[in-house]
Amino acid sequence: MPSRRQILVRAIAVPALLGAAARASAQDAALLKESDAEARAVDYHADAATATKSPGYQPGQTCANCGLWGGEPRDATGGCGLFFGKQVAAIGWCKAWEKKGG
Ligand code: SF4
Repeated sequence: MPSRRQILVRAIAVPALLGAAARASAQDAALLKESDAEARAVDYHADAATATKSPGYQPGQTCANCGLWGGEPRDATGGCGLFFGKQVAAIGWCKAWEKKGG
């Protein structure tokens, strides 16, 4: 029979390990490549600075200020509502960019 100390340690350690695993999984999500078929379909650029000649691009638009961005403001990469299981660059852009709250 486990002691009260062992039960307490497990109660603290198990959720901490599950949280760490979830964070590691999000960080390990594959980074979308411009060459990926789904990226090409929406003219994704890993750096919006290279999208200046793309139809629809407006200066200042980046993944980090897109309504579909799933990352935190300071993240270099984050999720995107278009690409399940992949991360996009905060400085990226694609033609599906939409205004936040729009
Ligand atoms: Fe970036 Fe928005 Fe396009 Fe996703 S939909 S790749 S966040 S610009």
